[in-house]
Amino acid sequence: MIKQKKTGQLIVISAPSGAGKDTVVKELIKRNPDEFWVSVSATSRLPREGEQEGVDYYYLSKEEFEEKINEGFFIEYTNYAGNYYGTPKKYIKEKLNKGKDVILIIEIEGASNIKKLVPEALMIFIMPPSLKELVRRLKKRGTETDEKIIKRFHTAYKEINEVTKYNYVVVNDILEDAVEKVESIIKAEKCRVDRIEEVFLDTKEEEIHELLMQKDFINEPTQNKIKKINKNI
Ligand code: 5GP
Repeated sequence: MIKQKKTGQLIVISAPSGAGKDTVVKELIKRNPDEFWVSVSATSRLPREGEQEGVDYYYLSKEEFEEKINEGFFIEYTNYAGNYYGTPKKYIKEKLNKGKDVILIIEIEGASNIKKLVPEALMIFIMPPSLKELVRRLKKRGTETDEKIIKRFHTAYKEINEVTKYNYVVVNDILEDAVEKVESIIKAEKCRVDRIEEVFLDTKEEEIHELLMQKDFINEPTQNKIKKINKNI
């Protein structure tokens, strides 16, 4: 009856630091291992303890990053908290064409640039349950100095006010609930009518007519009425 677009969906996920977006996405992938492809960004910031090259980020020097900007390597990039972050162009189109949903985990400025380039991108904002909880999570990470934590908190606070630029907001209080909500949003998006390419009859008109005329389906008086109507058409 309908032919829907087979291409994947471009999904942008943003959240202030400490809202838990990476955990939400990790869990989403765990539950749907074949559906998504998560883009690995490049950054000029130093790796945090435990982070891996090519898994968490591609780590570049400031000069290397600027060279890549000039080469047109990024679909979008930004300067965030004193460091460059950018999404490599390569692979995004290819993965979408193969039907994979592509996830970009990026901050707000980058997200709004993607929205301009790809208006149908699905924009999801992950929100911490409260500012107190956000501070607690930022401190718990223990990967940054107090000064940096305070700076991140201020940025996060500003970012929260930008939530209305997104299509959906999910509060990450209980992880499982948040993941389920993100999953449902993505599923619902697949049913949008603008993903329909064609509406068509999947059965010949004569076959439908025959079906309607079957005795066990329609009683005789109604059949006669249909015959009469058909004659008059
Ligand atoms: P972090 O230093 O905590 O890993 O990342 C800082 C912020 O940069 C996060 O909000 C993260 O989502 C964002 N970010 C990571 N990669 C990219 C990217 O490629 N482009 C943009 N615009 N933001 C990014």
